[in-house]
Amino acid sequence: MNENTQQSNLEAKARQWLEERGVSLNDIAELVYYLQANYHEDLKMEECLYNVDRVLTKREVQNAILTGIQLDRLAEEGKLDSPLQETIGVDESLYGIDEVIAFSIVNVYGSIGFTNYGYIDKQKPGILKRLNDKSTGECHTFLDDIVGAIAAAASSRLAHATADDALIDD
Ligand code: MG
Repeated sequence: MNENTQQSNLEAKARQWLEERGVSLNDIAELVYYLQANYHEDLKMEECLYNVDRVLTKREVQNAILTGIQLDRLAEEGKLDSPLQETIGVDESLYGIDEVIAFSIVNVYGSIGFTNYGYIDKQKPGILKRLNDKSTGECHTFLDDIVGAIAAAASSRLAHATADDALIDD
C-alpha cells in the first residue's frame, strides 16, 4: 500500500466516523458561517462547506478525529479503566486533554484559529449545543472540541483564502 492510498483510507475513516457520530459536514459549515458571516460580504454556505472539506484532507485533522471519537466511544461503552472512565464519561471540566487534541487542528491554518476556537467554544451554537447535551447518554467529550476546532480552522482557511494568502498550501 503506497503513501497516498494509506492517507485516503485514513481520510475516509475519519469522514465516516464523524457521520456515524451524527456530525455532517453541513453542521460544521454552519459553524463556519456563524463565525465568518460578519466579516465576508455575501458569504455563501457552499464556500463554508468547501473550506470544511479542505480541512478534512489534512492528516493531523484525521488523526485527531479518530483518536477523539475512539475515546468517546470507549467511554460510552464503559470500557476505559478508572479514573479515565469517570473523567471522560462525565466530561470533567478540569481534564483539558480534549482541548489539547483540538489544538492540533486549530493550528493547521495559523494562529487566528485560536480566537475562533475560543469564541465558538464559549457560544456553542448549532451542532455544538447538541454535542454538549448531557441528557442523551452519548459521550462527546472529545468530539465537541474537535468539531469546534474544524470549524475554527476552516474559518482561518477562508480568511487566508480571501486575503489570497500564500499560507494556503492545498
Ligand atoms: Mg470537550
